[in-house]
Amino acid sequence: MNIKDKVILVTGASSGIGAAMAERLASEGAVLLLVARRWDRLLQIEESIKAAGGNACAYPADLEKGEERSKLLDAVYARFGRIDILINNAGFGWYGFGYTMEIGDSLRMIDLNVKALVHLTLAVLKRMKEAGAGHIINIGSIAGSLPFQGIAMYGATKAFVESFSMALYREMRDTNIRVSVVKPGAVKTDFFTAAASKSHAQPMPVEHSGMTPGKVAGRVVSLIKRPRKSMVIPRVFSLLPLIDMLFGWLIDLIGPGLLKMNKMHNL
Ligand code: NAP
Repeated sequence: MNIKDKVILVTGASSGIGAAMAERLASEGAVLLLVARRWDRLLQIEESIKAAGGNACAYPADLEKGEERSKLLDAVYARFGRIDILINNAGFGWYGFGYTMEIGDSLRMIDLNVKALVHLTLAVLKRMKEAGAGHIINIGSIAGSLPFQGIAMYGATKAFVESFSMALYREMRDTNIRVSVVKPGAVKTDFFTAAASKSHAQPMPVEHSGMTPGKVAGRVVSLIKRPRKSMVIPRVFSLLPLIDMLFGWLIDLIGPGLLKMNKMHNL
């Protein structure tokens, strides 16, 4: 797909991967609709895109709330009449023993990582079907392919994203509509600080490592130009399900110990 002049809605565009994708796609000539809760951050990104000669429009919305999602879609379709590419990127994580996670945080994670993504995907897909073209890109995680200790809820939400997106890709195969899932490994963003700020959360072990959000943005641009069912970043992590198959027994054995060690280390 040619990116120039496409209307692209990016959720979670106020920081990290979402902001990097928005800036990169705007530099390719797309019209960017930026969605998140922090209005000040969205405006900064909108201004920086416009200062670089691009086109962007900020829409503040709390996507955990169904009525805000509906209002967002109404406002966007009233003004632009179409969404050519939807990137469901907003999400948050949490690390620790699952039983210590506040039930409110668990349900909020489902509201954002799953419900918001389903709501926007199905509503936009229906319009794309009428228009006869479009691309929906859902940001999953390698955590969705490897049930790991400490991220029971987060990994499960991302497993949903993967299964949902790949099934829709298959449903749309004989049309001009594509649905893709992007599965990054660790990326250096505010994700880890946001996760650690939640009740009873432990710091994530990989928080100081990882790739830049710009690297993910670059790969997403290539995914739009050459659509695929799924994209693992970096590619080597495609081997993770195989590692789980071969060494899952070892992860079962040492998993709780690793989680306890991490907890003690961070006390
Ligand atoms: P981030 O910098 O924390 O970005 C999260 C984005 O989601 C922010 O723009 C945040 O904006 C938005 N958001 C959070 N709650 C929201 C809500 N209720 N309504 C609307 N927007 C909301 O983290 P990131 O690393 O870029 O994460 C982006 C996506 O990548 C997530 O889905 C994450 O699961 C996935 N991912 C991240 C990594 C990683 O290692 N960082 C790896 C794999 C996958 P506001 O706070 O302004 O609302």
